[in-house]
Amino acid sequence: MTAPAAEGIATRGFAVKAADAAFEPFEFQRRDVGPKDILIDIFYAGICHSDIHQARAEWEPMVPSLYPMVPGHEIVGRVVKVGSEVSKFKEGDIAGIGCFVDSCRQCGACHAGIEQYCIKGSAQTYNSTEMDRVTPTYGGYSKHYVVDESYALNVKAPDADLPGVAPLLCAGITTYSPLKRWGVGPGKKVAIAGLGGLGHMGVKLAVAMGADVTVLSTSPSKEDDAKKLGAHKFVNIRDDAARAAATGSFDFILDTISANHDYNTYLSLLCLNGVMVIVGVPTEPAPLNAFSLIGGNKVLAGSLIGGIPETQEMLDFCARHAITSDVELIKPDYIDTAYDRTVKADVRYRFVIDMKNA
Ligand SMILES: [Zn+2]
Ligand SMILES: [Zn+2]
Repeated sequence: MTAPAAEGIATRGFAVKAADAAFEPFEFQRRDVGPKDILIDIFYAGICHSDIHQARAEWEPMVPSLYPMVPGHEIVGRVVKVGSEVSKFKEGDIAGIGCFVDSCRQCGACHAGIEQYCIKGSAQTYNSTEMDRVTPTYGGYSKHYVVDESYALNVKAPDADLPGVAPLLCAGITTYSPLKRWGVGPGKKVAIAGLGGLGHMGVKLAVAMGADVTVLSTSPSKEDDAKKLGAHKFVNIRDDAARAAATGSFDFILDTISANHDYNTYLSLLCLNGVMVIVGVPTEPAPLNAFSLIGGNKVLAGSLIGGIPETQEMLDFCARHAITSDVELIKPDYIDTAYDRTVKADVRYRFVIDMKNA
């Protein structure tokens, strides 16, 4: 496959050209480096479950899938060229790119540094367009990215840690932002529901924030993993006695589960004034009993990734606490298999593509 020739920087990546197609090499152009742009030589790209949903057109019609699609929004690499007006980066720096690469820069959300909620819709890193709404965006399963420095992150981590830093750009910020917003810290009893790509980051971050952390899971086999990640307790949600013992006990629950599940069950585990935040996206809507919230003055909320300032704050927090994602590093020819294994939850806890040697 080859995109139409155009001005710019020739690069290559891995794309799908239809919902049921396998990944194949794809040659395309990045834009020339403008005054405020940086050119990143991509080293690592995490595989997020949302890559799979979009590559396989599972979010249509809400999120149309645009082909050929080069997914990838957990990107880490080295800055190899900077524009004349760039101030945040110099050549040789390590930079990251997360879920979006531009936004309107004028609305209240953009001014507040929560660009993910831009009222005009931010430009997603892939399966989207630049803010001109014409130029397609291609993601991190590729050798290079050109991005405005305002939408790139500074990464300060040892080279050996960089594969595990890549997933922080989505899984890390998705869990960090709600933990921070709702005051998770010392003295708080926190539960992380689900122990996948998101959940394992939630555990590490909540533990580093000083909270008392419990993992809620339907798989008793995950207890050992939960403890290894730093969790203090484990509750098998299908064990009636264990669930009853945990009723009313948590200040905060981070719900990372993407399988269909009963929110009322989890809300019953919150204490008075407790808060549950949803970051996992099940495929089906779920019934909510009003009494689940009314009885204990409870809050049910949602959260979407994080803005650029908070993403930088999260990366700096992770660097200070030596937190990275647990990853399995793969070559690009394994992407299709990695997708199948991710769908089966057969990964601890994130696949990361080695683009440095691709
Ligand atoms: Zn993601
Ligand atoms: Zn905006």
